[in-house]
Amino acid sequence: MLEDLFKVVKSRLDYDSKSGSPVRSRIPSDLLFKCPRCQNVMFMDEYKAAMKVCSACSYHSRISARERLDITVDKGSFLEYDPDLLSKNPLNFEGYEEKLAAARETTGLNDAILTGECTIRTRKCVIAVMDSHFMMASMGSVVGEKIARAFERATEKRLPVVLFAASGGARMQEGILSLMQMAKTSAAVARHSDAGLLYITVLTDPTTGGVTASFASLGDIIIAEPKVLVGFAGRRVIEGTIKQRLPDDFQSAEFLQEHGFVDMIVSRVNMRRTISKLLKLHLEATEGSSHE
Ligand SMILES: [Zn+2]
Repeated sequence: MLEDLFKVVKSRLDYDSKSGSPVRSRIPSDLLFKCPRCQNVMFMDEYKAAMKVCSACSYHSRISARERLDITVDKGSFLEYDPDLLSKNPLNFEGYEEKLAAARETTGLNDAILTGECTIRTRKCVIAVMDSHFMMASMGSVVGEKIARAFERATEKRLPVVLFAASGGARMQEGILSLMQMAKTSAAVARHSDAGLLYITVLTDPTTGGVTASFASLGDIIIAEPKVLVGFAGRRVIEGTIKQRLPDDFQSAEFLQEHGFVDMIVSRVNMRRTISKLLKLHLEATEGSSHE
């Protein structure tokens, strides 16, 4: 009985007694975005138009690989490589297949990366975008293979590579096979580099583990989104190992820029323009040198 009474009182509280209109305007939560860092509230439309960046504190939310492509490449220019590569369960790791199936279902991707060819403000390049919504973009055989193939095609076609990195690290369900991707991808990057071609990495939140320790750190130019987490091992693991407290901003993009690991920090809003400028500068420089 008390519950029923409470329901009645609550329904009255939610409406203005004079106008009869809802007091708290009862906006469904999917119409609002609340920033997890500063608690600023934005209308969802406004937040999406701002590329999912908080207008108050510039918090860059994680976005999907498809969303990244939408805001980066020229409309209709993306031609996907290897869309049908699928992970197996080589170690018969319990529950892995179910986890993969669930991730496929929620993200609409076959694994944690999309690779392909595109133009960015009319400049042609090979692009690779990792998606943290797919098993925290952990690197297994498919991610490694798709990256290696993307670099091989870029080398063959003499195209620059733009890679948006994000990862929780190696995919433990694939054990040693996952660690082997570090060597394979690094070798493919090295062959591309030896051919004199440009490789731009963009570190997004979070870039950690074996991905940081391989292709994500090998860019000729390393860009990061503001305040993203970039590291190898987790903070607590390092503190426990070296028995020292680490600086508060340790493993942030800003800390890494200060220490020379990151070349530039670029906000999402300026990312497409910055990348296209770098592609243009490199193209002009190489064309210039081939005419000398
Ligand atoms: Zn904020």
